[in-house]
Amino acid sequence: AAKTAVKEGAPEKADAGEPTIFDKIIAKQIPSDILYEDDTALAFRDISPQAPTHFLVIPKHRDGLTQLSKSEDRHEKVLGHLLHVASKVARQENLTHGFRVTINDGQNGCQSVYHLHLHVMGGRQLSWPPG
Ligand code: C5P
Repeated sequence: AAKTAVKEGAPEKADAGEPTIFDKIIAKQIPSDILYEDDTALAFRDISPQAPTHFLVIPKHRDGLTQLSKSEDRHEKVLGHLLHVASKVARQENLTHGFRVTINDGQNGCQSVYHLHLHVMGGRQLSWPPG
């Protein structure tokens, strides 16, 4: 998906982000391998896994969270919830030897989809630092 373009001086909107592929996954207009779902969050397997287990945790209602660096005070609860869902699904996936949670933000962070998402990767020894 293209990087979100927000024009300087444009009026603030509740969510300046354009629709992304994740909106279609949430709406189940395109199939995904869903691991967990509640009213707030959705976890599904990454289509291009970088580890034996690699899933994404996303807010169902983006509410301006195109990327982590856009967080506002109102997002505090959902951000905590997403982390807890990451932990619960990691347990469900038997990642007993550990895993990594990553949020790519913006250009330098290599973000490609502008709907906040946590990557959860495990099932092998990961290296550090990342590239
Ligand atoms: O952090 P970043 O924005 O690059 O991550 C986007 C992720 O979304 C990628 O890992 C990509 O494989 C995944 N993706 C997906 N299903 C899609 C489109 C992208 O799992 N239909």
